[in-house]
Amino acid sequence: MSRRFPSLTSLPLLPLLGLLLAETLIADAFEPQRQQLMTEIADLATETASETGRRAFSAAVMAAMTEVPRHRFVPLDQVPAAYQNRPLPIGHGQTISQPYIVALMTDLIDPRADQTVLEIGTGSGYQAAVLAELVAQVYSIEIIAPLAAEAANRLQELGYPNVQTRAGDGYYGWEEAGPFDAILVTAAASHVPPPLIRQLKPGGRMVIPVGAHFMAQYLLLVEKTADGQISTRQILPVRFVPLTGGGKD
Ligand code: SAH
Repeated sequence: MSRRFPSLTSLPLLPLLGLLLAETLIADAFEPQRQQLMTEIADLATETASETGRRAFSAAVMAAMTEVPRHRFVPLDQVPAAYQNRPLPIGHGQTISQPYIVALMTDLIDPRADQTVLEIGTGSGYQAAVLAELVAQVYSIEIIAPLAAEAANRLQELGYPNVQTRAGDGYYGWEEAGPFDAILVTAAASHVPPPLIRQLKPGGRMVIPVGAHFMAQYLLLVEKTADGQISTRQILPVRFVPLTGGGKD
């Protein structure tokens, strides 16, 4: 399913058709790079299988990664690098995550079409869009108001009505929208925020980088069993921007 284009409901159609054509040409121009990136992600998934416990990412996750136009989530000067497998600056000292890490985090929650997922750290909105391809409803919180506003516009423009965003401190989660089947935290915390554990459904999963800022951080998979017990598994060393806000220590 492609949600890349605005709907052609209003006149005059001609400029819109021109825009659509330009969009299609640009999207096509990125196709070889996108395919190359998908190959790199698949190769890395194989290389890291012993650490992640997954021999490959699911076909659904790979399809979602193929579907989301990463070049629409980066500033203009980063567009040529949009399909490189690395984080890129998005302004305000923040980054859009490395595509392999986005795929890994998404795969680790075993997304299903009927689920509701919370993301902390909307940033560009890219991870939220990947999730939105896979689950019923995505909630995403961003602490830097201008980034939150930009991401909200972008997600609306690209046609992701199943993503709800808000500006605020994600440490405390989104109580009214919870509990969640899964929670993804895309900034590094010093500890797993207790409010997020509370907002996870029994049987739910959370993926979160934990560790000292910019130093030793590990991606953790936190699982809440049906009877509410918490188990934690260390997946990979990672490097994320820090989780800021009230609960940072
Ligand atoms: N998921 C993003 C990656 C963003 S980087 C993407 O796909 O582009 C992490 C983001 O977390 C940054 O934008 C940062 O501002 C935000 N962040 C840091 N601390 C936060 C907090 N306490 N609550 C919400 N967002 C936070």
